[in-house]
Amino acid sequence: MAKSYNKDTLSWLNTTFLIVTPILFIASTALWLSVDGFDINQLWLGVVFYCLTGLSITAGYHRLFAHRSYKANSLVKLFFLTFGAAAFQNSILKWGSDHRLHHNKVDTEADPYNINEGFFYAHMGWILLKDNDTVKEKYAKDFYRDPLVLWQHKYYLIISAVFGIIMPTVLGGVLFGSYLGGFALGAMGKVVVLHHSTFFINSLCHCLGSKPYTDTNTAKDSWFMALLTFGEGYHNFHHYFQNDYRNGIMWYHFDPTKWLINIFEKFGMAWDLKVVSSKKILNAKMNMKEIRLARKLSKQDARLEELLELKKKALASLSEWQDFRVLYLNNKAEFTRERLSSLKQKIRESKKVFQTHFHEWNQYLDSVQV
Ligand SMILES: [Zn+2]
Ligand SMILES: [Zn+2]
Repeated sequence: MAKSYNKDTLSWLNTTFLIVTPILFIASTALWLSVDGFDINQLWLGVVFYCLTGLSITAGYHRLFAHRSYKANSLVKLFFLTFGAAAFQNSILKWGSDHRLHHNKVDTEADPYNINEGFFYAHMGWILLKDNDTVKEKYAKDFYRDPLVLWQHKYYLIISAVFGIIMPTVLGGVLFGSYLGGFALGAMGKVVVLHHSTFFINSLCHCLGSKPYTDTNTAKDSWFMALLTFGEGYHNFHHYFQNDYRNGIMWYHFDPTKWLINIFEKFGMAWDLKVVSSKKILNAKMNMKEIRLARKLSKQDARLEELLELKKKALASLSEWQDFRVLYLNNKAEFTRERLSSLKQKIRESKKVFQTHFHEWNQYLDSVQV
């Protein structure tokens, strides 16, 4: 049923906030420019706050708290909770429970930001409605056992005001001589732009892009969306492998959230990073291509059997290559030089075997395409 936005269904606090913040952003920017004049430093201050806050949502709220895709020490958690609050997207208790429900019931009526209700609803309409104003208790049980999460929930408004508004405003004044400039860009500009870039994950990331891993839901992979969302644009992968700490799995995928988690890991502040095996990922990708092909061919087509055999070979050789790599990486310090160099040779050879098998599978797939 189409959602209706009226005086009985609207959450007035959320609606007012989402309308007033862009107005304040434009008005305060105009006032700042006319009173104090443009200063590039204020823009950089806004960008710094935007990144700190945005990454706290993606690396903290999303991948650490909502998905538990890695573990982090209290300092990192505290950083994400304070700067995450600065995004004015609610406490993690509320945000995380909504998000888990989204994954669990994606594209259904129970999905809090169900894209089938239309682009506007998935983007921000759902926030305007009273219906979605509550914590989804079933999906928040572990949050209630985390004292830091409870602390943030209790003092959410104070924390968000301090880190989201007061801090950038004061820094704008103290460092660059204009409190107004700090308020316009570091506080308001950051909140408004970040709101919509986060909302895009629920709207555009379910509309734009490709579906390499599964087409059982609307989530899509898009490198362009990754640029706008600190790497969250690989949303098809994320919906299929939601516990992986990465969204962009290749080194050239733009995923600054993943890079930040890697940095924390280097300094011993994050650990237990969950990674889905290359074999499982490739298997999902190959399966998806086979499913698409099977839809075009008849079920009994013998060529599908042949394709399956080639896939098995490719996956087995991938496993072998990965096993040699793991053996090498885990024993770099212990093995003798000779053993390491023979292992390196095996890695090279098994990689070639895999590439040949994968190429055969791809060629066969192309030849069968109708
Ligand atoms: Zn989604
Ligand atoms: Zn997610």
